[in-house]
Amino acid sequence: MPELPEVETIRMGMEKYIVGHEVVGVDVRLPKIVKEGDTEKLTGGKIIGARRFGKVLSLDLDNNFSLVAHIKLTGQFIYLGPNRPKESILSSELTGPLPGKHTHLILNLDKGGNLYYNDIRQFSWIRILPTESVVDFPFIHELGPEPIRLANTRSGQAFLTLDVFRGIVSGTLQKIKVLLMDQKKIGGVGNIYANDALFLSGIDPTRKANSLSLREQSKLYESIIEVLKQGLKYGGATEMNFVNVLGQGGGYQEHFLVYGREGKPCPNNCGGIILKIRLGGRGTYYCPNCQK
Ligand SMILES: [Zn+2]
Repeated sequence: MPELPEVETIRMGMEKYIVGHEVVGVDVRLPKIVKEGDTEKLTGGKIIGARRFGKVLSLDLDNNFSLVAHIKLTGQFIYLGPNRPKESILSSELTGPLPGKHTHLILNLDKGGNLYYNDIRQFSWIRILPTESVVDFPFIHELGPEPIRLANTRSGQAFLTLDVFRGIVSGTLQKIKVLLMDQKKIGGVGNIYANDALFLSGIDPTRKANSLSLREQSKLYESIIEVLKQGLKYGGATEMNFVNVLGQGGGYQEHFLVYGREGKPCPNNCGGIILKIRLGGRGTYYCPNCQK
């Protein structure tokens, strides 16, 4: 599932290509994808901001309504329109034709632009909410603080300091990896970045959170920030069909440390092989030599 770096990559693209456009029409092709609110409220509004709360996006309009979306596994927002960079190529292998059979909603924008919303698996949701109530929407309200503070972005999320992180980790009996992925404790971290952060910090994913020493807490905190920054640097990871707003895949999958690398040699060259176990129902990858 797309995590903080992937959703932030989408948000940054929205800021660049979508904000400033007026919505001139809305075409809902799969009504069930809109769980709440009336999409007609968007028509006539000008998009003035794109915010992110953990893995949730909010496109805010000047008529005080917002389009709030959780893309879950396979949601895609793709912009086609006049200010696309000339050299940008849509990855039709990932998106299919636009619009296509997986296009469930289209925002018709001014100047001939269109924002397409695709979702093959249909687990995602869209809500049309009054902008002032977005932060009170339960899913967003319950999100934990997130471990990366992005300069000059419109992230709406509270920031996870080292002290707050120490408090969360030392106060819970959950296994550390399960804790990292718990959106109510820490916002935005999912399976890819939890696996890689634990490897980078040399911590066994099955350890109980409250067994970490102060030094291990600091190392893990720094490692989470490091892997999220790497994810952002490469424009996110494309495992299934994550794309940015220009319909292009990310590159972090070429730089996974342990995630998805079962049976491969440890990247530390310790001579060990990456193992895969299941933890909290999710594939968990680690090096038994390097992670204690
Ligand atoms: Zn190793």
